[in-house]
Amino acid sequence: MLCPKCHASEVEARDHEQRLKTVGGVMLGSAGVAAGAVGGAAAGASTGAAIGTLAGPLGIITCATIGTFVGAISAGVTGGFLGRRVGHKAGTVVDKNVFFDYKCLQCGHRFNAA
Ligand SMILES: [Zn+2]
Repeated sequence: MLCPKCHASEVEARDHEQRLKTVGGVMLGSAGVAAGAVGGAAAGASTGAAIGTLAGPLGIITCATIGTFVGAISAGVTGGFLGRRVGHKAGTVVDKNVFFDYKCLQCGHRFNAA
């Protein structure tokens, strides 16, 4: 890999992965947690209510409450995990298309691999 400007061989590849862990991954990861928690709470509440219906009127209230918590926690964890992974991937694609990949250590010129 040579710098197209000064033809120096000292070029550094920019670390996309590293940057994304601090920017895109965090942002989209927390968005995933929030979405997962809301969706999980709703799903957990209805599942809990369905189970509770079989156990009687009191069970509806108890199971729906437990279901809400369990659903929120489990889906929140899953959502957060997926959000981080999807966000990370999307960010990598954007970063690679928008930003330059290499930087010349001699003249500071930034360029993409052909
Ligand atoms: Zn250069």
